[in-house]
Amino acid sequence: MLHVNENYSKIQASYLFTEIAHRVADHHAAHPDAKIIRLGIGDVTEPLAPAVVAAMHRAVDDEAARETFHGYGPEQGYAFLREAAAKADFADRGIDIAADEIFVSDGAKCDCGNIQELFGNDVRIAVGDPVYPVYVDTNVMAGRTGANAGGRYEGLRYLTCDASNGFVPSPKAAEGCDVVYLCYPNNPTGAVATKEQLQEWVDWANGSKALILFDAAYEAFIRTPGVPHSIYECEGARKCAIEFRSYSKTAGFTGVRCGYTVVPRGLVAYAADGSPVELRPLWTRRQTTKFNGASYLSQRGAEAIYTPEGRAQTKAAIDFYLENGRLMKEALAALGYTVTGGGDSPYLWVDVKGDSWEFFDRLLKEANVVTTPGAGFGRAGEGYIRISSFNSRENVLEAVKRMKGIL
Ligand code: PLP
Repeated sequence: MLHVNENYSKIQASYLFTEIAHRVADHHAAHPDAKIIRLGIGDVTEPLAPAVVAAMHRAVDDEAARETFHGYGPEQGYAFLREAAAKADFADRGIDIAADEIFVSDGAKCDCGNIQELFGNDVRIAVGDPVYPVYVDTNVMAGRTGANAGGRYEGLRYLTCDASNGFVPSPKAAEGCDVVYLCYPNNPTGAVATKEQLQEWVDWANGSKALILFDAAYEAFIRTPGVPHSIYECEGARKCAIEFRSYSKTAGFTGVRCGYTVVPRGLVAYAADGSPVELRPLWTRRQTTKFNGASYLSQRGAEAIYTPEGRAQTKAAIDFYLENGRLMKEALAALGYTVTGGGDSPYLWVDVKGDSWEFFDRLLKEANVVTTPGAGFGRAGEGYIRISSFNSRENVLEAVKRMKGIL
């Protein structure tokens, strides 16, 4: 008999955006003329930077001529992109990461999801709560989590991120775990971690032979001096951390698709007999077996982000989103709400002083504004909503006006 992977039946998550879609659809059906503003899903709204567009046009022309045509590229990514990323994202910041420790992919979601294939089925995993659901669900699918009871998987360690710890958990909460997913600037809370906090995690991981999976998808939003852009800014992180990067929010590549993962030389997991096994060759093997590379066009586009024009243009787009966030944060603060994020991040995490779905419904029904209820990201997200800064200025100003009118 063809048995299905029963682990899939344990998955709880996708309920969140489906439920939001239902509620928005019902509201729209009841009020067809209402102008709904969507500040829920974290997709970008601004077009690609002109430098990126020009590079991608040139790449199309390359593909149109026999002499410059590119078929399958290297599975690890083209050297032109790996070298540009190694220089700008690491060397220029004084961080020791080499081009051949960078693995280009079609985005961070796949890599965050696929990385767990390198680990044994018995590893003990820690995730933040609230959390980006990919870390959880991919481990559920792999059968590492046990059953879901009351909204939490029995086999996972949940690290509560709330106002009491500034939305950054302490490694003490992960004692006994082998793998921890950290994401800063954080989705959904918009919180950032300080160098000292990340260093504590690195020291803990090195001391307990654990691995940090560091998701830096929102790194480009950091503006506060001193906030780490990479886990590798911490002493010893090369020995205990993998880092995920994405061009999706950095440069509006959610539709283009490109990102990369850093797996440093010398980073190890352990065989049954306790002997160390390097993860970099394992990830190389995994990628060469199951992945045929990101497209030449998107990699040429990504390379252009690192040119002087590309940098200035992509920075301007992020500044635009950050200004959206500032406007909303200022308005909500004036209305008496405590807001985390909104600077150094495209997300605002608003303490709604009550039930998150109720608040979501109120904003939808009374202001025609769609947000994301925090409870959908985990138990510790109850009492919050996430507002995204990805929108036009016009919509943001209108949303602010409407919120002021009802809150
Ligand atoms: N990591 C986090 C925390 C995200 O929020 C997202 C996208 O929303 C991703 C990774 C995925 O990014 P990509 O578009 O590169 O797959």
